[in-house]
Amino acid sequence: MTYSPRYRLFPTTEQREALDWTRDTVRQLYNHALSEFNDIPENAGTLRQRVWQIRDTIPDLKEWWSDLNNVYSTVLQKAVERIRDNINNLGKLKDAGYNVGSLNWKAPREFRSFTYRQSGFELDKKSGPNGRGILTLKKLNGENREIPIRLHRDLPDHDSVREVTLKKEPTGAWYVSFCIETDQPDKPDVDTIETEDCVGLDFGVLNFIYDSDGRSVSRLDLSSDRKRLQREQHSLSRKEHGSNNWEKQRQRVAEVHARMSNKKRDFKHKLAHFYTTEYDAVFVEDLNVKGMLESQQNARNKAEVGWRDFISILEHHGEKNGCHIVQVPPEGTTKECARCGVESKKPLWVREHSCPSCGFTLDRDFNASLNVLSRGLDELGVVHSEVTPVETAAAVDTLEVSASRVVETGSPCLKEAAVGG
Ligand SMILES: [Zn+2]
Repeated sequence: MTYSPRYRLFPTTEQREALDWTRDTVRQLYNHALSEFNDIPENAGTLRQRVWQIRDTIPDLKEWWSDLNNVYSTVLQKAVERIRDNINNLGKLKDAGYNVGSLNWKAPREFRSFTYRQSGFELDKKSGPNGRGILTLKKLNGENREIPIRLHRDLPDHDSVREVTLKKEPTGAWYVSFCIETDQPDKPDVDTIETEDCVGLDFGVLNFIYDSDGRSVSRLDLSSDRKRLQREQHSLSRKEHGSNNWEKQRQRVAEVHARMSNKKRDFKHKLAHFYTTEYDAVFVEDLNVKGMLESQQNARNKAEVGWRDFISILEHHGEKNGCHIVQVPPEGTTKECARCGVESKKPLWVREHSCPSCGFTLDRDFNASLNVLSRGLDELGVVHSEVTPVETAAAVDTLEVSASRVVETGSPCLKEAAVGG
């Protein structure tokens, strides 16, 4: 499998110019190659053959287009090959029923990245300023350039890196993604999995997650970012459209947006990493069949986007860390008593589950997560032990974890929290 972790680059002014210069040169090559490609009749070969035919003309192009000599060879090749990727993507859109035309010439704003394949780059994890690493890019506008990089999470060795993509975000910040090939770890055999190595997650509107081991993780507090966004947007609306000041302000708005989505992504990745390394199996509600079961539809709709995103991140980490991720039928997880199975209706504002039949009393979301757990155990086929999780659950103290602690320590775990303060 492959995955592509992304890191922020901190280029000097000169390096930034070289990155921009390369991006624009590669864009011009792409546009040139596209017009050449459009001149080849469709019946002259497969898509791949036709694109490769253009790619093979790069050495000849260099004879009269001297700028191309200042760009690393695989970067040029990848730029031309992008025609094939883009056409394939157009095909997918067409299949999905979109009305799409043919490929268009790319304007500077639309062409944000370029890619090194296999070679032409080196990563030194330590030698940069302020504890940063150094990413060396060869022949970046003719020279090798050593660009500082913030390696906030670890990266495997060079051998497994297949491609390096440099991208300029609308904020003006540069990022690099490493496309990495990894061996997929095996997921544990179902026969060997113990109940206590499984966890059920309940997604809530008030808390982001409540799990069957008693942790409740709050939502990420983005209220101050939202206020700032409002301010910046208001200020943008008062500037003359297209003016220098407007453009500067537009960038500020983009920065706030980017910071908010980075925060959310970081939070979800850390949670997903924790659960998939701590447990052998993680169970979640299947949102595809969940529908709108509860009231407060707006709050749920909004939250659901975040949960779906989290499930896909969870699945990704499950593959990487060898952990089963199982989606279970969600109907009635809040109504059902986790101990005796009797259903009792409760409106959303009733935060406690108190069973009229057996007297089992605990937090309503905790109860739901226990139901998710037992459904998951059934679904995956884990043999239940004599002592069900429900019986031990009543003795478990609930641990309330703030989202910011997850962001700081990378985990909602008690031990790490104690160490981290
Ligand atoms: Zn009961």
